[in-house]
This record gives sequence, structure tokens and C-alpha cells, in this order.
Amino acid sequence: PVVLGIESSCDETGAGLVRDGRLLGHAVASSMDEHARFGGVVPEIAARAHVHSFTPVVREALARAGLRMADIGAVAVTTGPGLSGALQVGLAGAKTLAFSLGVPLYGVHHLAGHVAADTLEHGPLPDPCMVLIVSGGHTSLLLVRDLARDPIVHLGDTLDDAAGECFDKVARVFGLPYPGGPAVDRTARAGDPRAVRFPRPLTGPGDSRYDFSFSGLKTAAARWAEQHRIRGEELPLADGAASLQEAVADVLTRKAVAACREYGVGTLVVVGGVAANSRVRALAEERCRAAGITLRVPPLSLCTDNGAMIAAVGDLLVRAGAEPAPLDVSIDPSAPLEYAALHPVARV
Ligand code: ATP
Ligand code: MG
Ligand code: FE
Repeated sequence: PVVLGIESSCDETGAGLVRDGRLLGHAVASSMDEHARFGGVVPEIAARAHVHSFTPVVREALARAGLRMADIGAVAVTTGPGLSGALQVGLAGAKTLAFSLGVPLYGVHHLAGHVAADTLEHGPLPDPCMVLIVSGGHTSLLLVRDLARDPIVHLGDTLDDAAGECFDKVARVFGLPYPGGPAVDRTARAGDPRAVRFPRPLTGPGDSRYDFSFSGLKTAAARWAEQHRIRGEELPLADGAASLQEAVADVLTRKAVAACREYGVGTLVVVGGVAANSRVRALAEERCRAAGITLRVPPLSLCTDNGAMIAAVGDLLVRAGAEPAPLDVSIDPSAPLEYAALHPVARV
């Protein structure tokens, strides 16, 4: 069947259509510009924007796929984690469509969506594969078997900030525009990555091998900027951005490749918004090639939040014969990633 995927966990309203592992069409609307003057996503504004964008985005996805509403055979929707009000808008819309079309509904974990995004470009994931999720809210190293059936093994997670959060917060300190990650990436192009030696957190011999920590890096970058200000010097922004990006990319790729080696896994998949970072991509490429590991990174448009990745998980669940969600399924704003299917029971 054609699976419609709905994503609304943060500031993107996404709809995508997938059949048998193939992307037929998708559309995304973002309320990013409305949050810019607040320097971060405002939950209430995001939720309202989803109400506004839901129907147009679904229509646009259908138009791009050359399909009609009646062609939809199943609906998949992000039920967590994410902003509560934002998730509820997407779930209400998805339930309405599933109920009125008389098709099954599947609740999907947002991060499983980020993982599945890569299958739309590069085909089925090998079993097992190593997955590095680097996004605005998460940084995790995962051992993934069959995404639709098996539990996901967490080898490591961030102990404090996520990698994307680090980029976003440092960008603010540097006075770069919102959202910070892409701004750091752009600014870094003109800089020297060896200009500032920022710390490489949790890479010492006694440290946890696969956990991450980025709050110290954020503090180091803030202190570096402050020292320049105290001395009345202009901030060498490009060098600061390039050096920060180098530190983040170094830690992420070093740990991911070490995990592949230790577990004897031949494929590394890097997903999430920070997988769009040019230095993370380049360094992952370089280190995987040296280690004989196959690297997979989704195209830029599928790295950040979208509905196609949720449809991709729904399609895997349908083909695995998974149980659909009951129509009173709820959301779980802080769901840990255990299984790709996420069907929290309603708690009132
Ligand atoms: P989560 O998936 O953890 O719930 P999210 O959905 O907000 O969080 P994504 O949409 O996956 O996160 O990614 C957004 C993050 O990616 C932001 O922190 C943003 O700054 C970062 N990002 C996007 N492009 C780049 C880039 N080129 N370089 C660095 N970071 C980037
Ligand atoms: Mg976003
Ligand atoms: Fe995301």
C-alpha cells in the first residue's frame, strides 16, 4: 500500500508518501522564520503553525506524487518525542485521515524516522548497522538490526547537550543568525579549523567510549569569544566556527568509527539535522574510507525533519506485518528510542 507519513514534532510540518521503500513525493512547511526573533522554537507558535499547514502540506505531497487521497493505504505519524502541542496537531490530523479513509494508523518514533530516511536514497539498511543520530535534541550511537522488528541497542548517548544544540547555542554567542547549525557551517568555510584548539570531550583513556558531552565545548567557545571581547578585539568568527565544527566532527566520527570496529559492523549511517554539516560529512567519509567501513548519509533534504522519513518507517512496519495503533493512541513527548513503532496508551 501507499503509506502517508506525517511529521509535526517540532517546527516542521511534513507529509510524505512511500510505497515498497520508494519515495513517491513529499512536502515540508517550516515555521522557523516565526521563531527566529525569539532565538529558539516557541512551542505555542509551532503548534499553531501545524494547524495552519497540515492540510496544504498533505495536498502538496499528494500532488507531487501524482496521487489522490483515496490512494492512501496506511497512515504513519510521529507520536514522540517532541513538543507536546506540536505532536498533538499531527496526531489529530493523522487519526482523522486514517479514520475517514478506513486505513490502519501507525505511531512512529521520530528518531527511527531519521534512521529510515536513509533507506529512501540508499535502499534497505544492512543488518546490523551502526547509526549515529546527530540532531537538535539528540546525539546517540545505536546498533540497529531489523528496524521494524528488533529493539534498538544504545551504545552511547549525550550526557548533556546534543550536537545540534551545541551549534545552535554557540552560534548565538557568536552573534550568528538563527538557526545556528547552518550558520556555523557557512561561516566556517572561510576559517582555519586549527586556529583554536577546542576540547574533545570524553575522548580520554578513562572516559566512556561511546557517550558524548557537548556542554563543555559550548562553554569553551563562549569563553574564547569573551576573551576577545575583553581585549577589545574583533572576533575571528570564521576561525572560531571552523574550529568548533572541527571539534564536534572529530569527536562524533572518531567514536562512531571506533564502535564499528569494536562491534565488527561494516556500515555506518549518519542521520539527523547535523548530518547536513559539511565537515561532519567530509570527516566521516575520510575516516570510514580509511577503516574500510561503508558510509551512508541521507541527502540534505532528508536529514532535517520531514514526513517522508516517517512514511518510510510506516512502510517498513506495514511490510513487517506490525500491529497498527488503536485510534485512541496518544503522544509521548519524551519517549526513549527502543522500537521504531511507538504506540503510547492514552493517559488522561
Ligand atoms: P530531534 O530530531 O532531536 O527531535 P530536531 O528535529 O529539532 O531534533 P533536526 O531537524 O534533526 O533536529 O536537526 C536540526 C538541528 O540540525 C539543529 O540543531 C540545526 O542547527 C542542525 N543543523 C542543520 N544543518 C546543519 C549544518 N549544516 N551544520 C550543523 N548543524 C546543522
Ligand atoms: Mg526544525
Ligand atoms: Fe528531528
